[in-house]
This record gives sequence, C-alpha cells and structure tokens, in this order.
Amino acid sequence: MPQFPHLFTPLDLGHVILPNRVLMGSMHTNLEETKDWNRVAEFYATRARGGVGLMVTGGMAPNSEGGVFPGASGLFTPEDIANHRGVTGRVHDAGGRIAMQILHAGRYAYSPECVAPSAIKSPISPFPPKALDEAGIEKQIEDIATSAARAREAGYDGVEVMGSEGYFLNEFLVAHTNKRTDRWGGTAENRMRLPIEVVRRVREKVGRDFIVIYRISLIDLVPEGQSWDEVVTLARAIEGAGASILNTGIGWHEARIPTIATSVPRRAFAWVTKKLMGEVSIPIITSNRINTPEVAEAVLAEGCADMVSMARPFLADPDFVRKAAEGRAAEIAPCIACNQACLDHTFQGKISSCLVNPRAGFETELSLVPATAPKKVAVVGAGPAGLAAALALDERGHDVTLFDRADQIGGQLNLAKQVPGKEEFHGLVNWFATMIAKSRVSLRLNVEATPELLAGFDEVVIATGVRPRDPGIEGQDGANVLTYIDVLRGAAVGDRVAVVGAGGIGFDVAEFLTQKGESPTLHLDEWLAEWGVTDPAVARGGLASPRPEAPARMVTLLQRKPEKPGRKLGKTTGWIHRATLQAKGVVMVGGVNYERIDGEGLHVSSGSERADPRLIGADTIVLCTGQVSERSLADTLIATGATVHVIGGADLAAELDAKRAIDQGTRLAATI
Ligand code: NAP
Ligand code: SF4
Repeated sequence: MPQFPHLFTPLDLGHVILPNRVLMGSMHTNLEETKDWNRVAEFYATRARGGVGLMVTGGMAPNSEGGVFPGASGLFTPEDIANHRGVTGRVHDAGGRIAMQILHAGRYAYSPECVAPSAIKSPISPFPPKALDEAGIEKQIEDIATSAARAREAGYDGVEVMGSEGYFLNEFLVAHTNKRTDRWGGTAENRMRLPIEVVRRVREKVGRDFIVIYRISLIDLVPEGQSWDEVVTLARAIEGAGASILNTGIGWHEARIPTIATSVPRRAFAWVTKKLMGEVSIPIITSNRINTPEVAEAVLAEGCADMVSMARPFLADPDFVRKAAEGRAAEIAPCIACNQACLDHTFQGKISSCLVNPRAGFETELSLVPATAPKKVAVVGAGPAGLAAALALDERGHDVTLFDRADQIGGQLNLAKQVPGKEEFHGLVNWFATMIAKSRVSLRLNVEATPELLAGFDEVVIATGVRPRDPGIEGQDGANVLTYIDVLRGAAVGDRVAVVGAGGIGFDVAEFLTQKGESPTLHLDEWLAEWGVTDPAVARGGLASPRPEAPARMVTLLQRKPEKPGRKLGKTTGWIHRATLQAKGVVMVGGVNYERIDGEGLHVSSGSERADPRLIGADTIVLCTGQVSERSLADTLIATGATVHVIGGADLAAELDAKRAIDQGTRLAATI
C-alpha cells in the first residue's frame, strides 16, 4: 500500500484525469511583471516536473479596472496570448497541467480606476471604488468571460475564477459591501446573481472540455458575511452554471483573523470545507496551512475534501509531490508559513521567493551546477547560513566539512522554535538534519574550529552568527536580568517582566512569556476561540467574540524609538504579532531612555530632556536589544592573511533573519 493512498488517487474530471489530488494554488509572484517569459515558464515547468496534479497561475486581470494594481498582467493582446502560450507549452512538455486564475480585484484594486458593487472604500486600500451601473456590470462579466476564452487560446487547461478573499465577486455577495437595490443587490438571490452569471458565461465561452474552477468563500470572517445557507445555495448554483471544481477561499483580506500565517494551526479550516462535502457533486478543494503530505493525506482520508490545494509549499519545494510519491517525504523542504520571502515580497513589488528555497522564482539565474574543480571546503557554523552553504556546496560536488561548537545544528533556529506560534521551525531544523545526513557533508559538532584546524582547506566559509548586543544599562548585571537566550532556553522568569527592545525577538519573547501552557497553534479549538472564529452556520461570516486566554505574566515591552513598537515586523504578519500581544495585555512603550535597573525593576525616562522619570516595576528584565556579528574567528584568520568568505550574521548582524542567511549561503555556494 502506498504511503499516501488518497493523495495519489487520480481524479477524473470527465475530459481529463488528474494524476493526483494536489493542486498548486494561485500565488502572485510578480514574475509576469518582469516580462521575462522564459523565467515565468521555467518557474511553472520546474513545478510541473515535480509532479503536481494541476497548477493555478497568479491572478490575471480581466481588464484594467479589475487589475490588482495599474498595469497588472492579463491576456489583453495577441502578444500576451503568445507569451502565455510559451508558458503553457513548457508546462505541457514537462507533463503538467495549468489553469489561469482570473482575478478581478474590485475595491481591493490599488488603483483610482477601481470598481465595486457600491462606492464603499475598503479598509485596506486608499482608493474609493466607483459603483458600477448595469452596463458596467455587463462589461465586467464579458471581460471575465473573454479572458477565459483567451486563456484557452493561450493553451491553458482551465481557469480559476476568483470568487473569494473579498475580491470583486465576493463583494457582491455580502451586505456590507453591496448596498444595491437593483437586481444585483438586496436579497441573497440578487447578491449571488453576478458570480453565477460569470461562471455561466465563462462556461459558454470555453466549451465543455475545459476546467473551470470557482474559488468560493466558505467563511468570510468579516461582519455581515454570508450565512452558511447562502454559501451552500451559491455552491449549488455555481455547479449548475458549469463549474468543474470548487476551490475553498477562507477569509477576506481585510479580515482581522490570520488565515495562513505560521501561527495558524495546520489545516485550520479543513473543517469548513468538510461542511460543504455532499452538498454538490463536483470535486471540492480545501486549502490553508496544509504543508506536508501527511497533513494532506489526513485531510483527504477524513473526507474533508476531494483535493488539497497548497501554494507556498511549492515555493519551498517544487518536488513536493514527487518526493511524497517516492517515499521521501522527510526530504521535502518545509514551508514554514513565514511569508517573509513570498507574500511580504509580493506586497513590496519584489519577486516572490522562499526563505527556505532562495532558488524559487530565480530558477533561471541561481543554479547549482556541478563545480568544474571540486574543492575541500570548511564551513564554520551550522546555523541557517552555514547549513544552506554546506548543502549547496555539497550539491555542486565539493568536499564539505561543517563545524559547530554546539551539540546540535540549527543555531538561532533552535531559539525560534521555542516561540509559541513558531512550531514550524522544528520542521525546518529537522529537514536540515535529514538533508545533512543524506548528503556527503562531514558534520563535526562539539568542535571549536581553530585556524590550525582550518589550515588544510581550500576555502573557508565563516557562518559563526551573532551574539546579543550589550545595551550598557546600569544594573544589567543583576540577578533579575536575563537575555532572550536565557529565557528561550527555559530560565526562571518572574510574574512582572520588562522586555527591553521591541524588535522581532522582543515580540517573540513577549509572546513566549505571556503564553500559558502549550501554544494555541497546536490546539485548533483554543486558537479558533482566541481569534473569535465560529461555525458559519452559527454566525454570519463565522465571526464570534474573541476569547483570549489570560496572560501568564504582566509584560511591558519597551523601545527607545519614539514610534509604535513592531513597525518593522513583516508586512503581512506584523499586525498578527501586535494583535496577539494586545490580547495578552502587553503594555507597549516607545520613546524611553533606560536609566538603570535595580531590585524594583527598570527605571526609565522620556525624550532627550530625560523627562518623566519613572519605574517600570518588574521582577525580571529581559534584554532583547539586537545582535552584533560574531566574527572573532573570521578576524583572526584574516589577520593571518587567509581568504575567508563571511556570511549570515557574522557578515552583517543588522536586520538579520533566516531569509537573508539562507539566501547568502546558497548564493555564495553557487560561486565557489
Ligand atoms: P532588532 O529587530 O534589530 O531589534 C532590536 C531592538 O533593540 C530594537 O527594539 C531596538 O530598538 C533595541 N535596541 C537596539 N540597540 C539598543 C541598545 N543599544 N540599547 C537598547 N536597546 C537597543 O533585533 P532582534 O529583535 O534581535 O531581531 C533580530 C532579527 O531577527 C531582526 O532582523 C528581526 O527582523 C528578525 N526577527 C524577526 C521576527 C519576526 O518577524 N517576527 C522575529 C524574530 C526575529 P530601539 O533602538 O528603538 O531601542
Ligand atoms: Fe513558505 Fe516562508 Fe517560503 Fe513563503 S517564504 S513559501 S511562507 S517558507
């Protein structure tokens, strides 16, 4: 019996049989915007070679008013169609299938041209939309249907009509964005008219032998969202209008509930998809926080869906499906749901890549070709930078020895995995361990690399990381003062805590110290209660009152900058960290000077005049004041005239994260 029998059961769609139950979900990578169509084709062809059953492209605009931003890609000209034909051809040559997502952004379009059912601005866009008249609505339907017909012409196997996440079609469905009184608004029947008509017209244009996926919002997670009865009625009508598959959408982009971040429990919303099973006869896909074949198999085995959608996991590892099929699941590079190199990049207009796999999106320019002259290479430091460098050097055929003075690999990743909501870091460290064990890298733990030990190597890579910055506060040597490393390694901490430094680690430590018992990320019911998510059959949109657990400690989080703490956290995840700490009653204070620490706590003042001197009463003070590079070995070697490559935190400690470390390690390895 194969390891994942449900995952590898073919899916018969009538005119086509998909070889497995895995869909690569839509991701906006910004690759199309480069106009480098070879690069776009290679991105998808790489994933097709990895064996995924069906892929969906990033959202393509049906017209200029529906684009996510001005100039968004779409199939507008014969040249566009020809460019896309190049992509679909390469995917088909690689044995894959690909559908194009048609995304009309509605009032989420970052454009003054944006249109919507009613002229109500979204909370996440500066542009008020124009309310469409009857002719305007007809134009949108026609443009979406035309886009589908052009997708067929461009060689796609199907389209996905984006009907969820609060975009255009979804906006017609709910009363808070649709205040119309004509046949497109008011009653539930009228509000559903547009998506149903769109699917009907798309099917009419593309014929029977073409996949039409409709992405349906199953739980809106916004006030006045759809009722469950409305969702089921819509699903049946969409099937009747000609859809071949229903894909699941969870939550609007403006929802204040995280839906894909790393702190969201795995398969957190599969139970919502399961509610729809049996209500329609076409296949249903579930999605959100499914990142291993084990989880995907369980979701299918439990009857939550007919197929599983994963998007970011295919950035982390394009060979996800092939490795699962070959019994090599432990070798799948895990998506840790951090958003740091994918979604955060998308919103900054950069190419989406992956923290774990810097080659994602860079397939045509970052390749690890066999070295012409294999060398003996020492890598010092088995944190993310050193691990990435060692594995990539090994892949290129070099003879690699990896040293670390610790008794385990992982470096700072071992601290991150202690933080509630960052449990996925365990998987990343385990994956590195698997890959190092499988490689020819010689791992030397508990070894202090000295210049003498490194003398016989052709190349030396220094990835010795960082050490905590000394903030030089009077009284910081007291027994009531700890560093973040002490805390995350389990040191005893009092009931009232002052956290000095509100960067990523200050936030992590505050979450760690306020959490009682196990993280809600490991307990779905607790997590749903904490964020206020309920069954959409009980409350419209699935919204309930949040019921956060009482904090384990009273924490004050401080920084010197006179601005809101957490401003520099990730674009798509910072708000989640801020909301989590607010729910735990953490007091955030900016603009302070640290005057001294004594037995009573931390004494601070405000501004350059050192005004308002006061005591932050605390039993424990935790220093999270950033890091400095650990370069003593590098400097010693350089002083002897040796040539070394310094990467990761040892190279630059400021704003270091695993993304930069892994990227730098991999890129260096590609050049040696
Ligand atoms: P960081 O983000 O640079 O924050 C350091 C904090 O220490 C700041 O709040 C800074 O604020 C304060 N500070 C700096 N010098 C100080 C001094 N001499 N005395 C007192 N306070 C001082 O560093 P980190 O928190 O250690 O994080 C390290 C890296 O890991 C960062 O790049 C971070 O983005 C990343 N990381 C990210 C996350 C996440 O996104 N969730 C989580 C963990 C780590 P003031 O100067 O205003 O006082
Ligand atoms: Fe997953 Fe993070 Fe990679 Fe994005 S950057 S694909 S969230 S591991």
